[in-house]
Amino acid sequence: MTESPPRAWAEIDLAALQHNLRIAREHSGKEVMAVIKGGAYGHGLLEVAKALDCEKLPFLGVANTGEARQLYDAGIQTTPYILGATLPAEREEIAARGWTPCLCSLEEMEHFDRLGQSKAVEAHLALDTGMGRGGFLPDQLGAALDKLKSCSGIKLTGVGSHLPVADEDPAFTRSQFELFDSLAESIPHDAKFHIHLGNSAGLLAYESRTTNLVRPGLLLYGISPIPEHQSLLQPVMTLKSRVSVINHLPKGHGVSYGRTLLTRDTKAAVLGLGYGDGYPRALSEKGAEVLINGTLCPLLGRVTMDQIIVDVTHLPHCQTGDEAILYGKDLLVSDLAEKAGTIAWEVLTQITPRVTRVYR
Ligand SMILES: *Cc1c(COP(=O)(O)O)cnc(C)c1O
Repeated sequence: MTESPPRAWAEIDLAALQHNLRIAREHSGKEVMAVIKGGAYGHGLLEVAKALDCEKLPFLGVANTGEARQLYDAGIQTTPYILGATLPAEREEIAARGWTPCLCSLEEMEHFDRLGQSKAVEAHLALDTGMGRGGFLPDQLGAALDKLKSCSGIKLTGVGSHLPVADEDPAFTRSQFELFDSLAESIPHDAKFHIHLGNSAGLLAYESRTTNLVRPGLLLYGISPIPEHQSLLQPVMTLKSRVSVINHLPKGHGVSYGRTLLTRDTKAAVLGLGYGDGYPRALSEKGAEVLINGTLCPLLGRVTMDQIIVDVTHLPHCQTGDEAILYGKDLLVSDLAEKAGTIAWEVLTQITPRVTRVYR
């Protein structure tokens, strides 16, 4: 007996990941912290980490100690960087394993200082230049630096801040870069000190006179937060499913929950994936399409948990077993996300474990 193939799977093109990393390096001219939180944006935390581990990156950006521990347990050599403030119960493990936290409060500093008495904890300073999600405000920087002078258990190796509107508000973002640059210049540092601000949109569209490190996430997976730059990138994931049955339905017949009524005689193909796989239910009745044999086919009716129905009336040769592409190189997840009223980041991270990841 051979095991049957999955109904829905995501093909992950690791050569495209390498291409996008090269673009991040060349476009910014800086070192890259690859952001692989959220299971590498749905692409598979460990497989992506393994593919990047030989790239001599200074850091892999993760969300929490659980993700950092998965990297550690898999023998990944690149240092995990914990994006965001740490909880007290996480800090002993961070210090013991040599993961890099970003310090967001005096309380964090005092705790890491105690934990670093036998071996100093290497940490970055987080500055809040507009995100409001953690870090010292500009007028608190002096107090933070004063505090660090008395913390022999902490070795400050970098400073960072984050951009809330790099793909929405260029004027604010430019002022943020200017503010961050002047704050970074006021911190005494040597050439090895890491200074970082740019996420994907930040590294694509803005200049900085101080930063020497960028933190792209979405861009590495081949999706640009700024549409003008999409042509530089290669989407890494192609989400696929198969036609399970084709139904010839008469005009006036209902389709799916809620009974969307057909306006003509329709050849309707059923695909074996739905919101239970992470295909957004919010795409129901929003003009979304899938690709079958290279041709766009409109979604019919509502997305259900395990199946969707698409119009293949214009595809005379479409049959059971045909492959369908839900998104990928020729059908961008960012465009689909917009139709669903959300963002590519969310659509990618909501792919469920039921979808098999296939690495190429
Ligand atoms: C998630 C995250 C990033 C990556 O953002 P993209 O827009 O996906 O490039 C960078 N920095 C921080 C602090 C983050 O939380």
